Amino acid sequence: MSFDSVNDILDVLQKQAKWQEQPFQLLLKIWPEVVGIVANAHTRPLSMQRDVLRVATSSAAWAQNLTFKRQSLILKLNEKLSISLVDIRFSTAGWQSSPETVKQQPTVLPSAHPSYVDDSSTSDKAIAPNNHANDANTAFGRWAKLIQRRSQNLPLCPQCQCPTPPGELQRWQICSFCAAKQL
Ligand SMILES: [Zn+2]
Repeated sequence: MSFDSVNDILDVLQKQAKWQEQPFQLLLKIWPEVVGIVANAHTRPLSMQRDVLRVATSSAAWAQNLTFKRQSLILKLNEKLSISLVDIRFSTAGWQSSPETVKQQPTVLPSAHPSYVDDSSTSDKAIAPNNHANDANTAFGRWAKLIQRRSQNLPLCPQCQCPTPPGELQRWQICSFCAAKQL
């Protein structure tokens, strides 16, 4: 094989690599308009290999929802990008790895949960698991003490007599375990 033909092959490979990378970059650009704003917030194209596009979704429901619509999405993408996609695979795999999407997820304040117990009234600084808790056993010991101490100050569930966060009593008049048993 001559030097020239090796160069030719490298040239072709380079062009191929560029050609293969470009449609995906373009696809990322037009993805929001193809799937719509709402679906765009719940999806993230991961890769395009051969003629299969892989898209991460925020939930299994979104994966299912979009799988039903994939034929029309494939048509639109193929038309707009002059590519020949054959399939789109929607899956929740890969969704969590994106730092952007973590920010997008709604944050629920722990205090909004009925099982939340306000630490400020029961904890003292010596047992608060904040500083230098790098030894797992020490950390666990502190945690157990905190739970124990916290439990002693809690009202009891009228049904099972277990220490119960006030939020749960307010909501169900009994602890969450008893409430779950009644369902
Ligand atoms: Zn109970």
